[in-house]
Amino acid sequence: MAKTRDIVIIGGGHNGLVAACYLAKAGLKPLVLERREIVGGASVTEEIHPGFRCSTLAHAAGPLLPQIVKDLELGQHGLETITPEVCVTALEAQGRSLTIYNDPGRTASELQQICAKDAKIYSEFAATFSRIGRMLAPLLAMTPPSIEESAPGAIWNLGKLGVAFRRLGKKDAFRLLRWGPMAVADLVAEWFETELLRATIAARGIFGTFAGPWSAGTSSGLLWQAAMEGQAVGSASFMKGGMGAFTQALAKAACASGVEIRTGAGVERIRVNQAKTSAVVLANGEEITARAVVSNADPRTTFLKLVDPLDLDPDFLLKIRNYRAVGTVAKINLALSGLPSFPTLSGVNAYTRLSGRIHIGPEIDYLERAFDAAKYGDYSPAPYMDITIPSVMDQSLTPSGAHVMSVYVQFAPYNLKHGDWNSRREEFGNAMVNVLSTYAPNLRDLIVSRQVITPLDLEQTYGLSGGHIFHGEQSLDQFFTFRPLIGWAQYRTPIKGLYLCGAGTHPGGGLTGGPGANASREIIKDFKSSRI
Ligand SMILES: Cc1cc2nc3c(=O)[nH]c(=O)nc-3n(C[C@H](O)[C@H](O)[C@H](O)COP(=O)(O)OP(=O)(O)OC[C@H]3O[C@@H](n4cnc5c(N)ncnc54)[C@H](O)[C@@H]3O)c2cc1C
Repeated sequence: MAKTRDIVIIGGGHNGLVAACYLAKAGLKPLVLERREIVGGASVTEEIHPGFRCSTLAHAAGPLLPQIVKDLELGQHGLETITPEVCVTALEAQGRSLTIYNDPGRTASELQQICAKDAKIYSEFAATFSRIGRMLAPLLAMTPPSIEESAPGAIWNLGKLGVAFRRLGKKDAFRLLRWGPMAVADLVAEWFETELLRATIAARGIFGTFAGPWSAGTSSGLLWQAAMEGQAVGSASFMKGGMGAFTQALAKAACASGVEIRTGAGVERIRVNQAKTSAVVLANGEEITARAVVSNADPRTTFLKLVDPLDLDPDFLLKIRNYRAVGTVAKINLALSGLPSFPTLSGVNAYTRLSGRIHIGPEIDYLERAFDAAKYGDYSPAPYMDITIPSVMDQSLTPSGAHVMSVYVQFAPYNLKHGDWNSRREEFGNAMVNVLSTYAPNLRDLIVSRQVITPLDLEQTYGLSGGHIFHGEQSLDQFFTFRPLIGWAQYRTPIKGLYLCGAGTHPGGGLTGGPGANASREIIKDFKSSRI
C-alpha cells in the first residue's frame, strides 16, 4: 500500500507553488497535483502561434511580495523582472494620450501640457497614496484575525496596525476611513479635472470586478493597489519570458526544495472521513492519502465540486454558494507581424510609451457604460481594455521585428443573455479588433493570428469557477476577514486537515504570492502543534 503523504496541494498555480516551497523549507514533503499539462495557473506563457509566445492570461505582475522573491531565491532560479519607467499610457481614439510614469514628477510634467491644476496636485495625490499604502502594506502578509477566537499573534499584529494608523496623522486617517466605501468615480473627481486621467486611475479600482466606477466601495481597489505597490495607478512589472517565467522559476525553486510536482493530474474528489480529510482521488481513479490537503483551486471549485456536499454543514454550503464569483473578463492575444501605430502617440517617445500598460477607457462614463452591458448580460462593444505589448521590452517572445499584443477585456460577462460564448467567440473577437482598430488603424493588417479566451474558457481550460480572474469578487464584503467567508479567513476550513491557499483567500487575487505564503505559515503551525 502506498504510504501516506504529508501534504497534497491541489493545483500548481503560483500560490500553490509558493505554499509548496515554504512547506518544503519547513521540512515537509508536499506533492503538487496540477490538472493541466503545465504548472502556473493564470500565470503562464504559451505559444499562441509558431514562434510567438505570450502571457496567455495575467500579463503584469501583482506585484510579487519582495519577501517571497528573497526567501525562495527566485532570481537564482531564473526569474528576471522587467520594470519599464512607464506605468500606463492612456489613449483617446482621437485627440490625445497621457502617460503616467513611476516617477510622479515626470507624470506631473506631462500633465502640465494638459491641465496645470492637475499637474500641480498630482504629486500630492501620489504621496498621499504612498503614505496610506505603506500603512496598509503589513496587512498583505498577515493572517486575518478570527472574529471568534483571536490568537495572541493576531492581536499583536492588529495592535501594530493600530499604532501605524495613529501615526498616519488625522488627515490621512480620515481619508482612509472615508475613501474605502466610496465610489472611485467620486474619489478621482475630488482630485482631478482631466477626464482621461480620472478614468485611467479609476480603472484600477474596478480591475477584475463586476462593478463600474460609480459602484460603492470601488475606491478600496485603489487603496489595496497602494498597499501592494505604494501607488494607486498600478505599475507595469513584467517577467523576461512572460508571466510563465515566474511560475517556472517557482517550480524550479519548489523542486530544488524537495517538492514533487505532477502535471496532467486533475483531482476529482477530496475524501473526507469523520469531518477530516484523508485522501484525494484523481480523474484516473488513483487515490492518494495525505495528512493534509491544500487547495489552490478557488473556493467554489473546492467546496462545490471536489468535496461531497454531504461532508459539509448546510449553513457553510449555503454561504459558499452565495460567495460571488461571476467573471466579467475575456482575453485576446494577438500575434503581430510588426508594431501597431497609434496616431495619438505620434511624436516623441512613442516606443517608450508602449513599454508599460496601455489603457483604453477614456472617460468615467465610458467605463460605467461598459459595465452596464455586462450587468444586463452582454459584452460591451466599447469595453475597458488593459493592453500590453511585452515584446517591446522582451524580444525573446517573438521572431525579430514581430510582436505579441495581450489584450485584457472587461466587460465580457460569464453569463450571456443571448447565445453562448462558444457560438459568439468569433463575433466577439471581431468586435474587439474593431475597437482596437479605432486606436491603431493599421492593426488589422498586422494580425498573423488571434487567440480569443472567453470567460467560459477561463472556467473550462484554466479551472476558474465562473471565469472569475481573482477566484471571487474582491469587494468589501469578500475582503480580509471576510475572504472567502467570515469565520474562515485563516486558510483553514470546516474540514480538519483541508486548507485553502489560492486567490480566494486573503490577500486575494493578483500575482503577489501572498495567499500561498500566508496559508503555508498556518499549515506549518498546525503540523508543529500536532493539530493534524
Ligand atoms: C485573464 C486574466 C488576466 C489577469 N491579469 C492579471 C494581471 O495582469 N496581473 C495580476 O497580478 N493578476 C492578473 N490576473 C489574476 C491572477 O492571474 C490570479 O489572481 C492568480 O493567477 C491567482 O493565482 P492562484 O495560484 O491563486 O490560482 P490560479 O492561477 O488560478 O491557479 C490555480 C491552479 O489550480 C489548478 N486546479 C484547479 N482545479 C484543480 C483540480 N481539481 N485538480 C488539479 N488542479 C486544479 C488550475 O489548473 C490552476 O493551475 C489575471 C487573471 C486572468 C484570468
